Amino acid sequence: MTNEMIKTEYGNRLRDVEFIWARNSKEFLFANSILIRGNPTIIVDPSATFTYIEGLALSHSVNIVFNTHYHGDHRSLNALFKDVIYASHELDAPAIRSYEVYEKYSDSDPNSIYSQWRHQVFEKYHIQDCPVSKLYKGGETIETDTTQIELIHIPGHTPGHLALYFKNLDCLYLSDIDLTPYGPWYANVASNIDDFIASVDRMRKFEAKHYVTSHGERIYTPEEYQKKIERFYAFFQERDEKILELLKEGPKELAYLASEGIIYRKGALSDPLKAYFQWQMLQKHLDRLIRLKAITQDGFVYSIK
Ligand SMILES: [Zn+2]
Repeated sequence: MTNEMIKTEYGNRLRDVEFIWARNSKEFLFANSILIRGNPTIIVDPSATFTYIEGLALSHSVNIVFNTHYHGDHRSLNALFKDVIYASHELDAPAIRSYEVYEKYSDSDPNSIYSQWRHQVFEKYHIQDCPVSKLYKGGETIETDTTQIELIHIPGHTPGHLALYFKNLDCLYLSDIDLTPYGPWYANVASNIDDFIASVDRMRKFEAKHYVTSHGERIYTPEEYQKKIERFYAFFQERDEKILELLKEGPKELAYLASEGIIYRKGALSDPLKAYFQWQMLQKHLDRLIRLKAITQDGFVYSIK
């Protein structure tokens, strides 16, 4: 069997591994999924295409439901699968098992616009707690009769974010190091900007023949990947630099910085959810710049050092 990509009705297949694109489900909540046929049969992040994934669930052919991290858009169809083993990184498992923990990982303010949005979305899409029982740390290899999947811990976006390297296909799946033009997202309480930077830096140097992410319906060549991941990596520093530029004009409060287009374009900040995410991510940049001794904080006011 060759290592060539074959187009399927729902995505692209490389030997026994099918990447299922979320193209029919453009809502924010959905992400690409992966079906690994074999013994055992594994589905990764079931959330891409309801019809196909519901059919798989009803066929009882899937043995393991694997989540690359706890976010709702990566597991909105988890609960369709019965009599399966749920698996994830041990650090993200508590937030998949319990919505209460999900809340704590996500947001420190239970009344925020983000909290309200999360409640609505979880209710609307019937996203349910799942009894994750198979736990990983990263570094393990999952073997089926046809495929070997090395798990790579890439913390930052979430504490237990995992990438999957399909060894016999020479294909790296980066989940939410998603290479989209929006750049990296780390607006959760449990997100860690320094870990995220280190993870992207490690993945920049990861050599493979094919690269796939959870958002964007395509498979990247090494050349395309290198361009995309360098752009993605540069966002962290560009965001730091924009903050430092503004502070060069004089001391500023977070509220002022958050009114500027630093993470998102200024025009996009009329969306209260984006404005909230920007605020959370800016806070992480400011804390990081203090740790780097580039700025100081006096009460609510930040100054360049
Ligand atoms: Zn995510």
